[in-house]
Amino acid sequence: MDGRMEFCDRCGCPAALAETESTHHTSEGLVRYRRCGCGHRWVQVLAFAEAPGRLPLGSGRSGRSGG
Ligand SMILES: [Zn+2]
Repeated sequence: MDGRMEFCDRCGCPAALAETESTHHTSEGLVRYRRCGCGHRWVQVLAFAEAPGRLPLGSGRSGRSGG
């Protein structure tokens, strides 16, 4: 798997197990506010390149050709 793993700074739990409090879109990418089960909170930044939900252009059915 690509990508770096992040861990809680306090208890060392994987960030994947932490709750996502909120997600914000910024010019650099996605900013996620994570909250670990131990109560520690931190900000996770996902660049657009690795941010989920990035769909290629021209996908899906759009546009209609009338004749
Ligand atoms: Zn923790």
